[in-house]
Amino acid sequence: MKQEKELIFNGEFEDSEEEDDDQSQDQESDEELNKKKKKKSLQNTNKNLIMNVSDTQYPVVKFVGKMIYKFKLQYVPYQEVNNWDFCWTDNAVLPETLAKMQSHQKINHFPGMYSLARKNHLGKNLNKMQKQFPDDYDFYPRTWMLPSEYNDFKQQFGKAKTFILKPEASCQGKGIFLTRSIESVNPTEHYVAQRYIHKPLLIDGLKFDLRMYVLICGCDPLRIYLYKEGLARFATQAYIVPNTNNLDDVCMHLTNYAINKDNPNFIFNSDEKKMDVGHKRSMSSVFQLLRDQNQNVDQLLEDIKDLIIKTFCSVQPILQQHYTQVDNYANNMCFEILGFDILIDSSLKPYLLEVNHTPSFTTDTPLDQYIKKNLIADTITLMNINLKTKNEVILQKKDEMQRRVLTGKKTKLSNEEKKQIKLQCQRQRDEYESQNKGNYDLIYPCSKTYEEYLQHSLKLYEEWTGANIRRNQKKESVQLSQEPQIKSQSQPKKIILERKSTLYKHVQSRINTNLFPTSKNEQNKGDEIIQEGEEQPPNQIDTIPEADNDNFFPYEDYQQQSLESIKDLCSYTEKRGRELQILDLIQYRKADNRLNNSHIQQQNVQSILSPLSSIKGVLQGIAIKNVKQFAIRKNNKNVKSSSKQMNESEHDKQQENSSKNQIIPSQQIYSQGNAQGMNGAYLKPKVFSLKLSHPPKGYKLQSLPLLIQQNYTKFRYE
Ligand code: ADP
Repeated sequence: MKQEKELIFNGEFEDSEEEDDDQSQDQESDEELNKKKKKKSLQNTNKNLIMNVSDTQYPVVKFVGKMIYKFKLQYVPYQEVNNWDFCWTDNAVLPETLAKMQSHQKINHFPGMYSLARKNHLGKNLNKMQKQFPDDYDFYPRTWMLPSEYNDFKQQFGKAKTFILKPEASCQGKGIFLTRSIESVNPTEHYVAQRYIHKPLLIDGLKFDLRMYVLICGCDPLRIYLYKEGLARFATQAYIVPNTNNLDDVCMHLTNYAINKDNPNFIFNSDEKKMDVGHKRSMSSVFQLLRDQNQNVDQLLEDIKDLIIKTFCSVQPILQQHYTQVDNYANNMCFEILGFDILIDSSLKPYLLEVNHTPSFTTDTPLDQYIKKNLIADTITLMNINLKTKNEVILQKKDEMQRRVLTGKKTKLSNEEKKQIKLQCQRQRDEYESQNKGNYDLIYPCSKTYEEYLQHSLKLYEEWTGANIRRNQKKESVQLSQEPQIKSQSQPKKIILERKSTLYKHVQSRINTNLFPTSKNEQNKGDEIIQEGEEQPPNQIDTIPEADNDNFFPYEDYQQQSLESIKDLCSYTEKRGRELQILDLIQYRKADNRLNNSHIQQQNVQSILSPLSSIKGVLQGIAIKNVKQFAIRKNNKNVKSSSKQMNESEHDKQQENSSKNQIIPSQQIYSQGNAQGMNGAYLKPKVFSLKLSHPPKGYKLQSLPLLIQQNYTKFRYE
């Protein structure tokens, strides 16, 4: 589809309604002319295709769309109209946008990509994978999320000398600093902290990093291409291993173009044919230089491809989850060019520094113009965006509808049928893309299997969202109905929550099983035990449970850090108040401490209440809009039973009655009611008590409301 004669982009582009006639027909043979005519007629039909560019600032995008592909550019905000065929935006895309799209439309982002593109999310996702695969996920500098991992981070000083701290959602080197002393780190500030790679590979004595362009053009299954060309960005001051005197030399330690271009030493590229000089060069010229030095560039490239795929594996379920809202068997409505920033150390090991979901398409040098224009053009070709394909997709949909009407088959396709259609679409894509990939290299699917990473990532995601618990609930309820004797014989279990994941699982199971588990299931609750790694059996939502005689203690670590944690939680909720509907008070139970309940009541009322009081105190100070209530309820023996459908007043009455026996005085109980969130999400706030034994070391309170938030809000996005 691309024109044979290359159109030169000079960095600027003003859209105009004029026709762009090809005037280069002079001395060409008949055959060539015929070929061209055919192409031209295709391009002319593309004039009926609408490319929405309302939300992009980059002239190069408009140039490629209009001049190379002959699309009609549209400037009405893409969220307000839905007649575009292809949309290019510089910002993240919301799940609602995808939900509204038809199968022939395409957009240049995946909802949910924040899970890679924000430094803190990337760090968290990779850290989770690293726990399971320490040797395989060692391709990024060791990372800590502050302030939640402050204590562990603090322990590192002395082991390593230099750390780099980055604001969690910044770019272009803004707010980044190097440090060798923990005193310079504010323990309450949000940062992503990393080990500083102190021995980078140098060229001409300068540190550099690579901006590699990666195209993800399918998430279910993953489909990933790596562009063969990219940029190498150089620091402008000769590199010296960090010492206390040079930590502030940003032009030595940071390779950001935004920082270094203002240094008078900076040499700008001025000719696209000389891509191997200056402080911004082509990636291929750097690889050539390394090859000339007998470095093993092929191995380096293999390592880079491997780290890219593993990075995507860590978030694939998140992307897929958003994608399930569209019936797109071809897996091709979204695509995204991501900028992977890679630092190479002196032993030629690549490190992933960050993933940019909106890499800059600024074209202020001939080098940028050349690379970025071709990158965008190759992407559009690869995504097969043209009128012919659009019409085929529409026709296919029509056929499908007709078939359904004729056969009267209203039911959805079976999983097997879907699988077959998907495979068929995939084969067609393989065939087309292998002929039209331009300067792209398909890196996934590939011969090597990444299944274990994908499986683990799915497991983590399901633990986080509770999907596994819902599935297990189903399974277990079937099992329970088949084997009733197993339940009666079951031994008392003991809560062991040594790992964060188990803790989440436990909390999640409580949230999912709701607040009023059956008294049947609750009879042995006081002795309830969850074995490490074992799922919590499901409870039906029937009645209010009987009380148990648990002893409640605040968790010592938690208490020590309560102020910090609560403040952190509050600032978090303040930022995301729009989404947050309910906060939870966690009561920690010492499982092995079986003291007399009344004795404990007297001794510990204050300490039990302290977290709630603190949260309330802080919240009153900062007036979070959307936090509806805080609820706490202690299971109560006096309450015999209550149906799941009981109305609010009945429930309130029951709470009132039950409060006499509660460890928590009644004035601390906040009644519940239905709430309509600002985002339109409807929820029924729920009251529950959680009894957790020892949370894992380093566990912080602020992690839990996240789970609750995920469960209680309809929309969740950033
Ligand atoms: P930003 O998004 O603000 O550009 P980056 O994470 O890309 O933040 O970091 C900016 C620059 O800092 C990088 O281009 C690199 O030169 C340097 N840098 C970042 N992390 C490290 C690290 N762990 N070790 C060494 N240098 C780093």
